[in-house]
Amino acid sequence: MLEKLNGKTRTRTNAAADRRLANRTVLITGGAGFLGSHLCRANLALGARVICVDNLATGRMSNIRALLDDPAFVFINHDVREPFDPGEPVHYLFNLASPASPPKYELDPVATFETNVIGSENALKLAGAKGARILQASTSEVYGDPVVTPQKEIYRGNVQTMGPRACYDEGKRAAETLFYLFHERDGVDIRVARIFNTYGPMMDPEDGRVVSNFIVQALTGADLTIYGDGHQTRSFCYVDDLVAGLMSLMYHEGDISKPVNLGNPDEFTIRELAQIVLDLTHSRSGLVFRDLPTDDPMQRRPDIEHARAILGWEPRIPLREGLTRTIPYFAAELARNSYQAAVET
Ligand code: NAD
Ligand code: UDP
Repeated sequence: MLEKLNGKTRTRTNAAADRRLANRTVLITGGAGFLGSHLCRANLALGARVICVDNLATGRMSNIRALLDDPAFVFINHDVREPFDPGEPVHYLFNLASPASPPKYELDPVATFETNVIGSENALKLAGAKGARILQASTSEVYGDPVVTPQKEIYRGNVQTMGPRACYDEGKRAAETLFYLFHERDGVDIRVARIFNTYGPMMDPEDGRVVSNFIVQALTGADLTIYGDGHQTRSFCYVDDLVAGLMSLMYHEGDISKPVNLGNPDEFTIRELAQIVLDLTHSRSGLVFRDLPTDDPMQRRPDIEHARAILGWEPRIPLREGLTRTIPYFAAELARNSYQAAVET
């Protein structure tokens, strides 16, 4: 029904007149989080009714407050570990509910595992009952600490079943298996996106992941905390590129039930990232070195040939440009928070 919704197609479209999702209902679990709130807006912009299901474990009402006045938007405060049904048709379901930042998902590892496994099963049952297409927000963490680079979808990974990251990594792997099983057994129409490190506005300043930590530290004059020697690598994708990829994957017709990597293949060491953040913020912060967390992957870089071939999608926003767009957001968040703290004291 829908053609590509990647960046290329959208730039040719009059967004205000683009109602390709009119009369369609899109349910987004984890819709009050960083990525989920962008997806809520992207689907509303195409005329969809959007149901956001979130228990605010790591999400924030401030991410979706501006949407609450929109009659096409509904927020349901609900823990996806319990079954759910909004009591109306659902045509598309984005399954994003799960903490994503290591310090957040390690706080309650059993809840993280259950959210990914039981929550995904509940979402799959709902999609099956409604005849909805469902997209899983999987992760590059299914590759664990990869020994091949770049990582292609056929790579089976190098993952620990135990240890601090296992609740997330193995929860996401089990969720992928559940998606595959519901597709095989019940014919549920599935999409599986393996998302690599993504950053941008709407991240919680207290999220704990590296981009938000470094920007907040640089803006407040604190030392940037480098874990280990900083030679480990990550490939950072700007949120608009990632959301375009998720939309494209969801709304592209055809059998795309196999996992698809979505991320930016430009790879940086954590030390390089720190230097770029210091340059762009004109900060005089220093660097401070902390222990490398257990099982912290040493390298990560997506091979995105599959996404290019089937979706025509690729990221367009280089790291420096994405950070330049992101830094003012964090500056505003810090100003808002210090204002609120002042008002509350
Ligand atoms: P986030 O923490 O900002 O958002 C996650 C959302 O899920 C939050 O709003 C949280 O409240 C909600 N949630 C958590 N547990 C829940 C539960 N039991 N019931 C209902 N809601 C629950 O993280 P994010 O970066 O926006 O990540 C969104 C999804 O994308 C996650 O599934 C994550 O694993 C996946 N992902 C993100 C990245 C990234 O770099 N941002 C990379 C790979 C995968
Ligand atoms: N990291 C860091 N300082 C921080 C936060 C993270 O050096 O303040 C490192 C972390 O050890 C990892 C990389 O940055 O090697 C990316 O960490 P993040 O938590 O953003 O994501 P993930 O490890 O899940 O890729």
